[in-house]
Amino acid sequence: MYLTALATIARSAGLRVVEQPGWTTRGHGQMSGVKAVVCHHTAGPAAGNAPSIRVVQNGRADLAGPLAHYVLGRDGTVYVVAAGLCWHAGAVLNNAWSNNYSIGIEAEATGTAAWPEEQLDAYARLCRALCTAYGLPVSAVLGHKEVCSPRGRKSDPNFDMGAFRARIAALGTAPAGGGNTGGSAPQNQEDDMPDRELRPSANGSVTMTVPPDADELVIGVGWTSMTVTKVGFFGPTPGDRPDSNQLWATSGSQRVDAARPWRLKAELASARAKGEVLLCEVDYVLAPVVGRDVTGTAGFRKAAA
Ligand SMILES: [Zn+2]
Repeated sequence: MYLTALATIARSAGLRVVEQPGWTTRGHGQMSGVKAVVCHHTAGPAAGNAPSIRVVQNGRADLAGPLAHYVLGRDGTVYVVAAGLCWHAGAVLNNAWSNNYSIGIEAEATGTAAWPEEQLDAYARLCRALCTAYGLPVSAVLGHKEVCSPRGRKSDPNFDMGAFRARIAALGTAPAGGGNTGGSAPQNQEDDMPDRELRPSANGSVTMTVPPDADELVIGVGWTSMTVTKVGFFGPTPGDRPDSNQLWATSGSQRVDAARPWRLKAELASARAKGEVLLCEVDYVLAPVVGRDVTGTAGFRKAAA
């Protein structure tokens, strides 16, 4: 995949964005997915807002460009350099952090001078927006010095990554300046049973215990739609027959639209007619949407007394 939404994502964070000509087709081939964001500093010249951009875009004598997806200028301007595979991470400890799966951000810095506050603020907001857009936890934002193999091979970026992740988390779940966050899935009116969050995923799955007094399962999503590929209700597992405890399951996919939650009441009742229902599994497909914090919910309700 080519990550052609990178400019839109940066704008959703309220940041100044400069699109380098040709960025949407620049890369060493396709990305395999997005599982991490790897933060770097350029260790470049001390003068200028983004003096390393040509090197990041075109490479250097020993390594062809692009060397990162973004360059972050000292004033917080985001330069979008490439949408495809970039040579930024090198050897890493975990394949999820490799160039195939990680977005590389090169922040313009000498590596020794203090960081401008506006640059750090933009760095955190860009990472926040990327997490939102690709459904990543803040823990997927990592420093090059944290992912490199062997350990200690790299030292960038030269700030505390734990504090940086805390700063990202403090921004909340919505990208700053992104406007409408879409709100949350429809809230129940009747009960105090906690809902499970359904994060964007191509093959999401949650398993929940079913409260004995629950009357229905309600699956909802915010302003977008999602596909529920399976709902199953399960009873106690017989020791020697691990798959024999399914009491009821959907036979096909169900589309769930915004503000129109799917309520499974008769379905839960029919499962209970066959035995004690202990567990519920919900499998789903929920696409991330640029600039929006999309989540679905699944939870049980009991009828108002
Ligand atoms: Zn680096």
